[in-house]
Amino acid sequence: MAVQSPQGRVYRVSRKHLPGSSAATDGGQCTELAGDQVAQNLKTIALFGGTFNPVHFGHLRMALELKEALGFDEMRLLPSHQPAHRGEPEVSAEDRCAMLALALENCPELVLDDRELKRAGATYTVDTLEELRSELGDDVSISFCMGLDSLLGLPGWHRWEKLVALAHLVVVTRPGWQLPREGEVAELLAQHRGDSSHLASEAAGRILVREQTLLPISATAVRELIRHGRSPRFLLPERVLDYIQTHQLYRS
Ligand code: ATP
Repeated sequence: MAVQSPQGRVYRVSRKHLPGSSAATDGGQCTELAGDQVAQNLKTIALFGGTFNPVHFGHLRMALELKEALGFDEMRLLPSHQPAHRGEPEVSAEDRCAMLALALENCPELVLDDRELKRAGATYTVDTLEELRSELGDDVSISFCMGLDSLLGLPGWHRWEKLVALAHLVVVTRPGWQLPREGEVAELLAQHRGDSSHLASEAAGRILVREQTLLPISATAVRELIRHGRSPRFLLPERVLDYIQTHQLYRS
């Protein structure tokens, strides 16, 4: 965390980046920072979760644009095993993961994180974030990216109040969409609203809202095209389409 002394000097305070922690409690080491280091002191890791059933160019563009626009050091695509709030996908976790791996070949900007598929049973984002936080430590900034639709449904998520203590939430809205003005989500937003400068200076605890144009593609539309014998070409990478055809996925 960067703090400013009454004399105007800026210091980095080690291991004190998580919300609710106090720089005074453990006598953390202080290092004076140069001006241009102030907002740049944490490694930033972003997660983009989904069922990816199958992955398409809408997902890939969104993840890449977020990485570049917000300057994340790493952008991880995180396929979910069996989200608690959706039905079981008709294609196996192994197939979805294999398609994602094919889509990310030759794309060093995006990486696959298949930890949720290795876990048996229901996938809870809060468990994943806890696991990542204990793996990465307190001095790494973690951002969990989601659409506005997911933010609106957040109170239905397992231990949802804990999420923002473990990571920043980056919420992507389509241009022109309105954020809620009342209710639990509006209160959460009011308490935690932040901007892109917080992503590198704090490890968690902010909600960043970002307007971004989405490609009009959905996995549902891709599955429907295949089911009706029509081509989804140009909506998803050729390698993914080849995999779907070879393994005869989404035909029924
Ligand atoms: P489905 O049609 O099966 O619901 P989907 O295409 O919406 O699937 P998901 O795997 O459910 O894909 O979504 C993963 C993430 O990608 C979510 O955060 C979702 O908001 C986002 N997303 C989905 N479609 C697009 C798109 N066209 N552009 C950008 N982001 C997208």
